[in-house]
Amino acid sequence: MAAMTKWERVRAALAGQEVDRVPAGFWGHDYLREWTPQGLAEATLERLRQYDWDFIKVNPRATYYAEAWGNQHQPSGDVAHGPIMIDYALKAADDLERIAALDVHRGPFGEQIQALRSIAGALGSEVPFVQTVFSPLMVVGLLAGGDLAAVRRHMREDGEALHRALSAVSETLAAYARACLDAGAGGIFFATVDWGTYDNATKEQYEEFGRPYDLPVLAAVAEAKLNVLHVCRKNNMLESLLDYPVHVFNWAAEQSGNPSLADILKKTDKAVMGGVAVPTMRGGTPERVAAEVAEALAQTEGRRFLLAAGCSIPPLTPEANLRAALAALPAVPVKCRRQTKPTKPTKPTKPTKPTKPTKPTKPTKATKATKKD
Ligand SMILES: [Zn+2]
Repeated sequence: MAAMTKWERVRAALAGQEVDRVPAGFWGHDYLREWTPQGLAEATLERLRQYDWDFIKVNPRATYYAEAWGNQHQPSGDVAHGPIMIDYALKAADDLERIAALDVHRGPFGEQIQALRSIAGALGSEVPFVQTVFSPLMVVGLLAGGDLAAVRRHMREDGEALHRALSAVSETLAAYARACLDAGAGGIFFATVDWGTYDNATKEQYEEFGRPYDLPVLAAVAEAKLNVLHVCRKNNMLESLLDYPVHVFNWAAEQSGNPSLADILKKTDKAVMGGVAVPTMRGGTPERVAAEVAEALAQTEGRRFLLAAGCSIPPLTPEANLRAALAALPAVPVKCRRQTKPTKPTKPTKPTKPTKPTKPTKPTKATKATKKD
């Protein structure tokens, strides 16, 4: 088949249609350059061009949402380490009252939109890219300085104030997600991060404080072509979030308590994104990376499948491992199921035996004509 454009390849993979090869993309932080819109755009484009990915997940610093509501963070100055927290906004229940909806065209959100415009300007419609958007509950967790126990305490003791704060964050993120599309993103990469795991929240807590605030954000970008749900951590809740309106699910399938790629493909008609474990990308051999890609291809048959890592890859991930992941993808078309395994032509139905000619019924004895005349 003719070579596809990157958008065609991604769209076909999402729809379970034939692809010329499985689309691939890996992402990670650039802790030194992610602090300015120009730096983030440059780092994103540079990585894309280095590996010629089929799609790109923009990887902003994780703290930008919280900075918009008053957290203070600063660069570590180290290529391998993320931002350092100086101060955080949510220290007591009273602080929940101060979390109000924001104008997404200003401050840290405005800077992200500026970065997306630069990326879109450079790529045109050539490569699908998505912007990371954390879930409202995750943003509140960041505002609490990452103290998840404090957030759970607010769930128990300050439910009403927490609901109001989550509502303001959700409204802001919905407007922001919309603005990301307007800036040229193909969709969002919606990440539950700390909260999409039974290690940190019960199903009931997520149903009350997670889901009702997640859905408006996804609804705001319903017409996007590539929305991803990323469910981080082990013991994840992915299986209870499969009804979220996205095109593809991404998670660390190898972590304990998590479903495999094959498990999820059986339960949804959406696509799956993943295949290589982050520790393998960072510290494994190229042969090990290739073996994990092969296993992912075996589980998915290369259908409804986009190759990636289960989460962002560390900055010092060896180039040889990224190259090995790409090289392990067969450069042959993956046909859609119907074309690969044509259903057996149904046997022509046996001609039904001609029914025995029914014996001519004996002519009934002609009744004696009675001469009446
Ligand atoms: Zn993750």
